[in-house]
Amino acid sequence: MSINTKEQIKCPACGALQEMTVWQSITAADSADLKEDLKRGRVNIFRCTECGQTALLPTPMLYTDGERNLMISFSPCNGREERMRLFESVKAASRESGELRELEDYNLRFTSEYNELLEKILIFDNDMDDKTIEVLKLLVLMQESEKMEQRVCMFGKTDGDMIEFMVQDKKEEQVYTSRVPMETYRTVKQQLRESGVKDKSFDWEMVDAQYAASLLYGANNNL
Ligand SMILES: [Zn+2]
Repeated sequence: MSINTKEQIKCPACGALQEMTVWQSITAADSADLKEDLKRGRVNIFRCTECGQTALLPTPMLYTDGERNLMISFSPCNGREERMRLFESVKAASRESGELRELEDYNLRFTSEYNELLEKILIFDNDMDDKTIEVLKLLVLMQESEKMEQRVCMFGKTDGDMIEFMVQDKKEEQVYTSRVPMETYRTVKQQLRESGVKDKSFDWEMVDAQYAASLLYGANNNL
């Protein structure tokens, strides 16, 4: 169920007050328009009509796509410690309420990054496995390992034969595209499965670059 409230938001730059719709929960099936707004990065982003300032609201949001068995818990925050604390509290609340048992077939994802929320929706909309995609993103970045620290790789699109990734270089202020054959995706997906990575969640997971690194360098894999 999609849930929102109307709130008065104060512009962090000029202080002007503005009423906006703040979403706490979005269910994909409720409204295609709302989902499109989210994918375009328009949900829970404040845009000041006075000075043009934009800002992400600190409101947590739950995204549910029943068709794809996907649930994403988005909790904006600053810093790794805060993120881990929120992640643990989402897991505990889900266990204690009994909700977790009802979600056995689901992919349950936790993120504190808005871009990652949008990327996850895009990955699942393309019927792709985000765990495999995270490993491929890391492999793309490792091609120029000396520049890994200054680069971010994001899923772009797929045309069936190739997957296109966007590589943003913060130091060079450039965006590159990098293409990976679908065959490689299938091979890596199979290798992950053989190394014990499950298709379903069984609990909330943070599937990000760190997750991919632990798969690549972890003790229990054959990659
Ligand atoms: Zn303003």
